Amino acid sequence: MLAPAPSRLAYVPFVSVENMMKLVHRIGIAEMLTGLAEYIEQDFRRWELFDKTPRVASHSREGVIELMPTSDGEDYGFKYVNGHPKNTREGLQTVTAFGLLASVNTGYPVLLTEMTLLTALRTAATSAMVARHLAPEGARTMAMIGNGAQSEFQALAFRAICGITAVRLYDTDPAATAKAMRNLAGSGLTLTACSTAEEAILGAEIITTCTADKQNATILTDNMLGAGVHINAIGGDCPGKTELHPDILSRADVFVEYPEQTRIEGEIQQMPADFPVTEMWQVITGAAPGRRDAAQVTLFDGVGFAVEDFSALRYLRDHLHATGLFQDLDMIADPDDPRDLFGMLMRAGPEGAHAA
Ligand code: NAD
Repeated sequence: MLAPAPSRLAYVPFVSVENMMKLVHRIGIAEMLTGLAEYIEQDFRRWELFDKTPRVASHSREGVIELMPTSDGEDYGFKYVNGHPKNTREGLQTVTAFGLLASVNTGYPVLLTEMTLLTALRTAATSAMVARHLAPEGARTMAMIGNGAQSEFQALAFRAICGITAVRLYDTDPAATAKAMRNLAGSGLTLTACSTAEEAILGAEIITTCTADKQNATILTDNMLGAGVHINAIGGDCPGKTELHPDILSRADVFVEYPEQTRIEGEIQQMPADFPVTEMWQVITGAAPGRRDAAQVTLFDGVGFAVEDFSALRYLRDHLHATGLFQDLDMIADPDDPRDLFGMLMRAGPEGAHAA
């Protein structure tokens, strides 16, 4: 007798790095960034129904390994991600990630995917989506301080989503700036390599800080900033790792994803526990004001929150099947009789003829 075919639920679509690269090209980088920003904004609009918790972080002297779970009651998602600033010196990535989406109804996984590329895309889409709500009207120039792995994604997202036309780049390592300039040549952006952070922010209405250093660094000080700028600070994202002088936080209106997590990991870890912040989802739903006037300094203290990864996983699930760019993983045990897991085991392999 033929064994019944395993149920399709037993196979989990897996998106490898190779397939993710093909998928991004198939969809188009700008279109994917725009689509991700739409999914993230949709999820910020329904923020209150998410099951939220600060990420579960395991810190070491060299970096951090984190799990980022959330659920909207229908789907459940999590990401595994690390942050190791010293890695690039060893030829490794600072940030790598993979993630999973599951059905709340069955608990079965429905998607497993690389998320190193997807994190860079979703981080950039989040930053640009937030800036669309907070940046000064007509902003066209962005300073990009820190020209590592995230930087090109940030530049392209701000171009696609906010209409930025010029980027002024600075990194302590000129080789990183040269790499970003090369990668962004032909993007339609006007690029200027700068030799100091002060030079980079000249004439910029938006300032992105995207550096990696496991210490309280001071990439920007208050006296460097003119009125009305929007700061997109995404590099400071774990305890003891910040980018901005506290005076900037005192002067700016600070916007965050999830205060319970940002107070631990963000720029505001330098401030008292009751330091006032506005949650971004409230700005998006109209429950709280965003930018009120042209002179206001707005600051997005972005640390990356699980809901953004959930949105990215949702986007991927919704766009994956049309592309065929995945492999089916035999990841879920699927015995013919759900209570006969042992019988399934014994039917396999040379000793399958179990003589009990
Ligand atoms: P990366 O290591 O590839 O690049 C970081 C760059 O910063 C390097 O080129 C380095 O030379 C430069 N740098 C370090 N100190 C500097 C300084 N004082 N001034 C100017 N440049 C400086 O890292 P990456 O993957 O691009 O990530 C950058 C940061 O963003 C990391 O700290 C990472 O943890 C964080 N991150 C945040 C989010 C989020 O959602 N908020 C998501 C991904 C990464």
